[in-house]
Amino acid sequence: MRRYPHVIGSGPRDAASGRWREVFEPATGQAYAEVADGDGADVEAAVAAAREAFPAWSGLRNSERSRHLERLADALESRIDDFAHAEARDGGKPYALARDAEIPRAVSNLRFFAHAATQFGSESHHGEAGINYTLRQPLGVVGTISPWNLPLYLFTWKIAPALAAGNTVVAKPSEVTPATATMLGELALEAGLPAGVLNVVHGGGPEVGEAIVRDGAVKAVSFTGSTVVGRRIAGIAGPLLKKVSLELGGKNPTLVFADSDWRDHLDTLVRSAFQNSGQICLCGSRILVERAVYAEFRDAFVARALALRPGDPMDRDAKLGPLVSQAHFDKVVAAIARARDEGGEVLCGGSALDRPGWFVAPTVIEGLGPDCASNQEEIFGPVATLQAFDDDEQALALANAGDYGLAASVWTRDLARAHRFGAQLRCGIVWINTWLMRDLRTPFGGMGQSGLGREGGLEAMRFFTEPRNVCIAT
Ligand code: NAD
Repeated sequence: MRRYPHVIGSGPRDAASGRWREVFEPATGQAYAEVADGDGADVEAAVAAAREAFPAWSGLRNSERSRHLERLADALESRIDDFAHAEARDGGKPYALARDAEIPRAVSNLRFFAHAATQFGSESHHGEAGINYTLRQPLGVVGTISPWNLPLYLFTWKIAPALAAGNTVVAKPSEVTPATATMLGELALEAGLPAGVLNVVHGGGPEVGEAIVRDGAVKAVSFTGSTVVGRRIAGIAGPLLKKVSLELGGKNPTLVFADSDWRDHLDTLVRSAFQNSGQICLCGSRILVERAVYAEFRDAFVARALALRPGDPMDRDAKLGPLVSQAHFDKVVAAIARARDEGGEVLCGGSALDRPGWFVAPTVIEGLGPDCASNQEEIFGPVATLQAFDDDEQALALANAGDYGLAASVWTRDLARAHRFGAQLRCGIVWINTWLMRDLRTPFGGMGQSGLGREGGLEAMRFFTEPRNVCIAT
């Protein structure tokens, strides 16, 4: 059976305890690999390696750190197929999605922050009190904790800016999908990244994740995952006065106005609900439709959802894979049952597929109001609800009816309405007539229960540096 060890210091390492935990293949439901089952001792070793590497790494010229990241990007790009294959097997996502979108995005993350390393400047202020400039210095050792839904995409989204800014990193990928982070840690060493600059520690959240957050030598933690765990991390980091960035759950609205070209955009609208089986924090799971076109939209949307045949992730044509784990499958199936109990009418899907693995058919539900649990709580599966609205005011109220505030998409040809909603929706990202279109320079993150802080571009470089004001009397 394949084994995924930690990558600490100059190479792979077993857990100090000698323990391994099983890794399951979602398409079959069978264990196919083992991952090092780390704990505090492994975090200590990784932090020690990262501390040792920090002076030399932070002392490099920005252009030298940039070249290291470029080399890693090139190495990853030359092995896209291997990484896509590993990602599809480990997480159950369609190979085509990994091959064509997610692993290339991981390459872009590394390249983008390689460039950022050479372009990052700081401010100066004068004319009021002396001449001031701001030094932006790396923090030291930083921790990153990432989830299973976009394993390498989100792993690189965090480590790339941390490294570009001159920090050394202790990174904890999800124990559910450990494959590509391990492969990247090993590839980084092959590509010449100095030992200890990037350390990958595997294991459970409470054992490894919390040890990273608690470690006094770890100066900041960038976390992406559930709101429950984000709160727990904030609770530990708060009294330690540790810098944290929290990218958490979502319950995103998709607003479809009658004047929009929704018929031409149906593919994107369906993708926005079901891509990666709805296991993307940015998926639109509450679809709000102007009443004048509600019935026509509902029928067309359900027909497209029915055509989305789930299949083996390795099948090039599969549009939908399984859910990631037995536990997550149980949660999604229970959420569908609850939607029925709440009075929702299941228009399609609504059940597991009769085949091995954790497959759930794309599910569309109508007849539920904004306050029910199905429209309030994140399901994170291939489940979307439909609600009708009569005017802009009601659309806005429905969209903002919830505690999450990550993303929204608005479909309209009315420019004034688009800008109004852009300003009034309570969330961190608003897409107009598109979904998941990303410019990596833009601030990324949510408000309310969707998180704290922003990633992306300068926001990430700022998070991973400490600003110091130097004031010179003139
Ligand atoms: P999760 O919170 O269960 O786990 C995320 C990571 O945190 C994993 O590495 C896990 O091992 C670790 N962890 C678990 N308990 C911990 C603890 N007590 N202390 C420290 N670390 C701990 O989330 P998940 O199920 O892996 O991912 C799905 C969630 O992630 C969804 O809620 C989704 O919305 C969210 N997500 C958010 C974004 C975003 O950018 N806002 C992106 C992707 C996913």
